[in-house]
Amino acid sequence: MLIVQKFGGTSVGDLERIQNVASRVCETKKAGNDVVVVVSAMSGETNKLIAYAEHFSKNPQRAEVDMLLSSGERVTASLLAIALSEMGCAAVSMTGRKAGIVTDNIHTKARIEEIDPTALNKAIKEGKIVVVAGFQGVSQDGNVTTLGRGGSDLSAVAIAGAIKADLCEIYTDVSGIFTTDPRIEPRAKKLDKISYDEMLELASLGAKVLQNRSVELAKKLNVNLVTRTSFTNEEGTLITKEENIMEKPLVSGIALDKNQARVSLVGVKDRPGIASDIFTKLSKSSVNVDMIIQNEGRDGKANIDFTVPVSDLDDAKKVMNSFVKESEVDEISYNENICKVSIVGVGMKSHTGVAAKAFSVMAAENININMISTSEIKISMIIDEKYAELAVRALHSAYELDK
Ligand code: ADP
Ligand code: ASP
Ligand code: MG
Repeated sequence: MLIVQKFGGTSVGDLERIQNVASRVCETKKAGNDVVVVVSAMSGETNKLIAYAEHFSKNPQRAEVDMLLSSGERVTASLLAIALSEMGCAAVSMTGRKAGIVTDNIHTKARIEEIDPTALNKAIKEGKIVVVAGFQGVSQDGNVTTLGRGGSDLSAVAIAGAIKADLCEIYTDVSGIFTTDPRIEPRAKKLDKISYDEMLELASLGAKVLQNRSVELAKKLNVNLVTRTSFTNEEGTLITKEENIMEKPLVSGIALDKNQARVSLVGVKDRPGIASDIFTKLSKSSVNVDMIIQNEGRDGKANIDFTVPVSDLDDAKKVMNSFVKESEVDEISYNENICKVSIVGVGMKSHTGVAAKAFSVMAAENININMISTSEIKISMIIDEKYAELAVRALHSAYELDK
């Protein structure tokens, strides 16, 4: 088989763990497979580098941030290649650029435009294990870019697609996808399989075990994706097409996203095109808007509330201030002490009462719901951040996910 194995930050967190990863990769190779490895930076490294940049500037140039952050993954890639060669498993490390990962030029959250796997395929043909530095690519104009936090997952899936790998294994610090974050609810259960769509919702709604764009791409390219732990030989979770899953639970999982902020606009000029102006400008500044509520206008003024990831808040503020300056909006306030709790399950398509149940669980815990949004397979609620864990555990138990 041709296998892509991605190791996250904890799995390569220190030299002993890198040695451990080398043994695992070498074993896979010696069992007769071709292996491409994608590595993250050592755990904590990316945060450390961001803090270094922020020591000098509150708003460092993003191209420089990319130059800086991409170094974390290069360290682990080269160390792993050295450890592998020492074990007698010929290996070569590659940067994102050498691996042919071409992106757009949106620094710190670039999108992959194409992959040219020539160098990868050549090294594989020569019998080498290729170790690719995850999370990075190169823009058309030759600058280093990074793919957004958690982006090594995306590197792995994209490479698996480009070289038509039989399997893409994501090794992390938990043994698979659980019904909710096992760090919040220790009674969470590991799932054997989960559909791409449910996993995409969970990932988009805060379950950072897989980066959401990696799941989206895996679905599009039909990549066989498995999440498992690098610490034991336990079987992981297969992320696959919905039709491959026999038993469809009503609810598959609960996700929590604490990195959300609410933007409240008071006294918005109630004229045709204002929403279009606001949200087009936000989108042009690459601000990811999630939930939106607009109330009915009165005396020519309306209120609009929306949520954005905390990391996009500064950009959102810049855009919104321009509307205040032009007297299109009277007042703006921001609240970072909120979180989004979501319930995900394909079974919701054919069952009623799932949302009503979620609301009664919140009521029973005396938790006020600020905003609600639903889709075919998910219900999301914005609540006060201090109730985050309580809400997750209450919902997990109400839908009997611990059974
Ligand atoms: P890595 O560094 O390997 O990329 P991450 O920290 O990005 O790992 O993701 C793994 C973490 O995701 C786990 O430690 C766990 O706390 C968290 N997590 C959140 N939701 C879930 C879930 N539903 N199932 C498993 N892990 C989850
Ligand atoms: N090192 C990067 C991060 O911490 C990418 C990754 O680990 O996937 O976000
Ligand atoms: Mg991750």
